[in-house]
Amino acid sequence: MSLHQISSFAAGTWVAPGEGARTIASAITGAPFASAGNAALDVQAMLDFARNTGGPALRKLTFHDRARMLKALSQELSAHKQALYDLSFETGATQKDHLIDIDGGIGTMFVFASKGRREMPDAQVYLDGEIEQLSRNGTFLGQHICTPLLGVAIHINAFNFPVWGMLEKLAPTLLAGVPAIVKPATNSCYVTELAVRIMLDSGILPAGALQLVSGGLGDMLNHLGCQDVVSFTGSANTALSLRQTPAIQQNSVRFVAEQDSLNASILGPDAVPGTPEFDLFVKEVAREMTTKAGQKCTAIRRIIAPEAQVNAVIDALSDRLAKITIGDPRQETTRMGALVSNGQKADVLEKANLIGQEAERVFGNPDAFDLHGPETGAFVPPMLFHCADPDNAQRVHDTEAFGPVSTLMGYRDLDHAVALVNRGQGSLVTSLITHDTDVARDVVMGSAAYNGRIYINDRDSMAESTGHGSPLPHMVHGGPGRAGGGEEMGGVRGVKHYMQRTAIQGSPRMLSRIGTKWVPGAPEIKGPTHPFTRKFGELQVGETLHTAPRMITLDDIEHFANFTGDTFYAHMDDDAAARNPFFPGRVAHGYLLLSFAAGLFVEPNEGPVLANTGLDGLRFMKPVVAGDSIKVRLTVKQKTPRNDDYGEVRWHVSLTNQDDEPVAEYELLTMNAR
Ligand code: NAP
Repeated sequence: MSLHQISSFAAGTWVAPGEGARTIASAITGAPFASAGNAALDVQAMLDFARNTGGPALRKLTFHDRARMLKALSQELSAHKQALYDLSFETGATQKDHLIDIDGGIGTMFVFASKGRREMPDAQVYLDGEIEQLSRNGTFLGQHICTPLLGVAIHINAFNFPVWGMLEKLAPTLLAGVPAIVKPATNSCYVTELAVRIMLDSGILPAGALQLVSGGLGDMLNHLGCQDVVSFTGSANTALSLRQTPAIQQNSVRFVAEQDSLNASILGPDAVPGTPEFDLFVKEVAREMTTKAGQKCTAIRRIIAPEAQVNAVIDALSDRLAKITIGDPRQETTRMGALVSNGQKADVLEKANLIGQEAERVFGNPDAFDLHGPETGAFVPPMLFHCADPDNAQRVHDTEAFGPVSTLMGYRDLDHAVALVNRGQGSLVTSLITHDTDVARDVVMGSAAYNGRIYINDRDSMAESTGHGSPLPHMVHGGPGRAGGGEEMGGVRGVKHYMQRTAIQGSPRMLSRIGTKWVPGAPEIKGPTHPFTRKFGELQVGETLHTAPRMITLDDIEHFANFTGDTFYAHMDDDAAARNPFFPGRVAHGYLLLSFAAGLFVEPNEGPVLANTGLDGLRFMKPVVAGDSIKVRLTVKQKTPRNDDYGEVRWHVSLTNQDDEPVAEYELLTMNAR
């Protein structure tokens, strides 16, 4: 059979395998399946194409434009899922594994598409935090902003998730406005190549936004500069050597690393056999050991249980693992497929042997297990080890067998459990199965600093929980120390990895223009008519309405109190109010001021303002007493389109008294017709 020819996509053209191409074997049969790699790839031309064509095209778009692009890409990939599934079996993955890799990857891109529209502006500059007051009178202010890096992101991915691994990096990169060159691990690059073809063929992306290297990267990393990013996922050894690339060191090139991790799962002291938590623990551990045949960076490598429960855990886990059918992933009865290659199998068996020097294998024998697949494939059984003396062991805490291999160890008390977790020297995730909130707090305080994520599960959350091993686009993925010290995803945080944060200092007028958001102190614009009569597209940022004043009387306060039922003493009893350190005597309700403010600024007739959707950052600054009068300044602060029909207007609302002293301030949100 002829080998599948897996191409690269370089500087706008597909380049077939050539000199130095590697043969990739099928995980299921071990037979040659595909060929990838070409030593003649022009890496400088690829970098130039990304920097000079892809970057400028992406940066012309706003965050919302790019978010819409991501949504369209995910829809395109979704429409071609079956082709990706069909091909991906060859990596040893089962249909359930595809749901994590292929559906999970597409879902991740969808989440970034939606976060980009909801949490980022329809603009080219992202404002990071609020205005910083740097001067007494507010004429000189500070604002942190993020803008896209002007280089290219090189994504180097591990073999285990050929689709998710690419998309979880690509989505935040494109959303940031940065072009990417994706380099999947050669062993499974044929699946990534198909996903890239689907995306490129759709015509959704501007030229230069996405390129692909199937096979070796050549000396690309030696041509990187300070505007480029390397985002790496793989083993600690590869990360260490790539970090030392001279250009990366000399030019302080950002290097995000996600590498191996000896993740742990703790069975809480309360979760004894017979509790829902004990069963949940056994189920989660067995699932984590066998999903993707244990080739998951987040898989549970160390099972930490109370010493008294060690035997119960061995028995319950062994029962569950014995039910796992191992074999050809295309068979529906198969629960665990193959490792990605026979090379990987040899590596896993070697690492399991090292662990075996410190721990006894209590389940799974690689030399004798029930196999429903070809003997030549990269199959191994799940292997459970028990380490009786984890304090004096080393391998069990630092050897990652990247397969269905896990070691159980007993703990004496919670401090001991935490100490064992931390022996991993930095992990992507630790899970804790407990119903006891004090146990949860102690574990978090003791080991959060050693973990990128802590997953706590019990009877209350188990029906909806997402699983120990699932990194979610909303949450940070990464971990300190051995896990690489990197961070990915985590919503908009992940987008910022591809942007530069800059502290901008200047006058309110300057900051308003740069951030496309009105800053108090910047010039006000007088519109031709009341702003509530103007459509979303007609309103200008800075457009301001000043209302007439309205006096507050004691009758108003009493009427409001009786009408609403809010007869709090500060509004009703002069002496009691005066004893309060905040009030001179009876004062107007804050909500009365808000209601009167609305009465002052609204335009009552049917018009483009469709609804009041909320209010942010409300502050009452000075009490208002009977006899005071208030007036309102209403300014368009920011505009965010929501769909073709309407957009959100954020108004800055400021209430002042007869002496021009601020009494209240807030941001009002309305939906306005476009
Ligand atoms: P690997 O051997 O370190 O390879 C990772 C990537 O680096 C592959 O794309 C590989 O390409 C590339 N690479 C290797 N040498 C290179 C070089 N000199 N220049 C440029 N690229 C180079 O890791 P793996 O075997 O694919 O993956 C398994 C490891 O990844 C495990 O340790 C696992 O824990 C870790 N992992 C971590 C995460 C996480 O998010 N933290 C996720 C998944 C996996 P080739 O395939 O072409 O050599």
